[in-house]
Amino acid sequence: MQESRYEAPKSRRKLVVGNWKMNGDRAANGALIDALRAGLEAGPEGGPDTDANGAAVALCVPFPYLAQVAGALDGSSIALGSQDASEYANGAYTGEVSVAMLKDFGCAYAIVGHSERRTLFGDTDERVALKAERVIAGGLVPIVCVGETGMEREQGRAEEIVAAQLDAVFERIGVAGMAASVVAYEPVWAIGTGRTASPEEAEAMHAMIRGHLAERDAAAASRLLVLYGGSVKASNAASLFGRDDIDGGLIGGASLVAEDFMGIVRAAVGTS
Ligand code: PEP
Repeated sequence: MQESRYEAPKSRRKLVVGNWKMNGDRAANGALIDALRAGLEAGPEGGPDTDANGAAVALCVPFPYLAQVAGALDGSSIALGSQDASEYANGAYTGEVSVAMLKDFGCAYAIVGHSERRTLFGDTDERVALKAERVIAGGLVPIVCVGETGMEREQGRAEEIVAAQLDAVFERIGVAGMAASVVAYEPVWAIGTGRTASPEEAEAMHAMIRGHLAERDAAAASRLLVLYGGSVKASNAASLFGRDDIDGGLIGGASLVAEDFMGIVRAAVGTS
């Protein structure tokens, strides 16, 4: 195991978050949640322990299905999240969904700054920072996504790009805000491509991210959860999650298949 420059306190329990993206329908969602609950909540013999000694699990689902999934997760240890949130509190913002609405439906997490939002829907660093600030103010945990493109990595600029994305958020929410956030490192070239960052590449970036926060507050940095996202599968999850600065994963495609997602959760529990 690669040695981290920072102490990993026991409180850094692994977190596995499913990002369904724009997938699902009522029937498929119901079947998926049923299978996940049966597999993840069956106790030590039936499935991985997702209570305080295991890994935390959350599902970030499309807005229209928040109510359905909230109901299906009732009484479950699996948390609910959204894939985005408005930077505005409320009012004349047609098509937007506020943090208060997300809270109303039981969301604990909101992804902000996913690369698909950044590249396809114009979410700038500044808007991502505003969204993170709004999510924290509303009492939810933002999952702040950062990551470089393939070209930026080839140019040797990966760390510079990720640091700049982080700085935009730091500047707005400060150390206290970062301490209330989760960061997800998602190299754009690895999302949905089947090409995963190697555990060494991912660990190096995660250590940089933690080090960047440590320059401001070492204690907050040692507690920060930094997830890896980008073509994580059951077969590669343990080698990623086994690294000291990788605290779990943000999972796209594999979160749509119960067995695949549960295999990833098991890897998180096994490396906790
Ligand atoms: C994602 O959408 O956040 C993601 C990591 O997708 P995938 O796992 O499919 O690469």
